[in-house]
Amino acid sequence: MADNKDVINCPACDKPMTKVYMQGADVSVDVCLDGCGGMLFDNRELEKFDEEHENIDEIADVIQGKTFEHVNEAEVRICPICKVPMVKQGSGKAGVQIDVCNTCGAKFLDNGELKKIRTFDDVSTNKAEALIDALYNKNLEDVLGENAHKDIKPSPRRKFFEKLVYNRLIK
Ligand SMILES: [Zn+2]
Ligand SMILES: [Zn+2]
Repeated sequence: MADNKDVINCPACDKPMTKVYMQGADVSVDVCLDGCGGMLFDNRELEKFDEEHENIDEIADVIQGKTFEHVNEAEVRICPICKVPMVKQGSGKAGVQIDVCNTCGAKFLDNGELKKIRTFDDVSTNKAEALIDALYNKNLEDVLGENAHKDIKPSPRRKFFEKLVYNRLIK
């Protein structure tokens, strides 16, 4: 979907949003500069900005030093483009819930959520994955160090796996 050219009102606080042109990605993001600080991304736009290495200088510039009004994040938002209720969806990162329009694909993020998604630390997940990879590849020495040559009985080993999987799921 092409960038929406009309001024749209914020789905959270109903103030007119400001279009911020993102040079690197060549898209405009609607930012609620005079209200709650929320951001509306058109279909597929968000994936251009959700990793920490991706450039969001223009957004960072316009929101810097501003204080935004508080909004109820649990409220159902109405897509400002299609006028249908948006659906709360986990972003898969940092437990952040975003509002998604299933009709046009627009995604609304409350103030601060973009930062949380971008800086989500998945080091723990990576470590657990590396351990599981190593175990499946039978490189146990790499994983267990000096314990590698000790006989591992099924029970502690099972506990080890359970702990690994548990840690992965709750992080
Ligand atoms: Zn707003
Ligand atoms: Zn929509």
